[in-house]
Amino acid sequence: MDDLNYTTLLEGIAAGMLATADKGRVADYIPELASVDPEQFGIALALADGRCFAAGHADTPFSIQSVSKVFTLALALGRLGDRLWQRVGREPSGLPFNSILQLEHEGGIPRNPFINAGALVVTDAILAGHQPREVLGEILRFVRAAADDENIHIDESVARSETDHGHRNMALAHFLAAHGNFVNSPDLTCGTYFHQCAIEMTARQLALAGRFLVGGPAAPSLISRHSVRRINALMLTCGHYDGSGDFAYRVGLPGKSGVGGGILVIAPGRASIAVWSPGLNPHGNSALGTLAVEHLARATGWSIFG
Ligand code: GLU
Repeated sequence: MDDLNYTTLLEGIAAGMLATADKGRVADYIPELASVDPEQFGIALALADGRCFAAGHADTPFSIQSVSKVFTLALALGRLGDRLWQRVGREPSGLPFNSILQLEHEGGIPRNPFINAGALVVTDAILAGHQPREVLGEILRFVRAAADDENIHIDESVARSETDHGHRNMALAHFLAAHGNFVNSPDLTCGTYFHQCAIEMTARQLALAGRFLVGGPAAPSLISRHSVRRINALMLTCGHYDGSGDFAYRVGLPGKSGVGGGILVIAPGRASIAVWSPGLNPHGNSALGTLAVEHLARATGWSIFG
């Protein structure tokens, strides 16, 4: 596909999405996110070599929320390697993103690094022996290097809003600590986690940042090829909570969603795609974002299943 065709494709998708009546429901359990206008949709596609195409509200910053879990997992795998898997599993959970149920039955080992309990363990692991400020600096440096853009920051008001209402995550953290699967105080790790989730990016920045997961000679190499393969596998099987099977069925590409309405999708060896629309489907994944990447995968034939 040439450059003009990518632009035409994305503009067609954006126009179709903005005209769609059912835009889902904006997350309201973090009060600061509840006020985001649902009538927004942005999409950006970055090829491995850095050429980037975008349409709609692709330059509007949004809260990346759980998409940040991809970046912290990359850091944790770099630092701990396979030792990370002693503390968190690699199976889909089939339960909502913030569920505590399986922890009770499975000895405090979260099913995967992308549900909240698993992501808290990952953040706890990279925090060990460091100050939250240092670790947040490290996460931001990684994201900025990946996007090749220094203008990426944490939205303090979102972090504060989640801190003030983060009882479920605090409960998960205490439960993990009770099972001996936490090395820092729940306050410290949750504070760091709330701030990583409050990183603000545009769809264009996120698509560019995702290129390190595309693989191949043109993509930036920030982590080992081994880790790239593994993170993509986890994104495909666990990246959309209890909607992961449906996303794989409809789109056929690894992806990671966040309750801010963003989704990072990887077409291995080809491109990194970011979509954003704040309205969520019942699984907590962007309703229009999912629909949009379904269209994109069909139009490009990029499903990993051929
Ligand atoms: N910060 C959110 C939470 O922990 C992230 C959830 C998400 O994006 O799915 O509840």
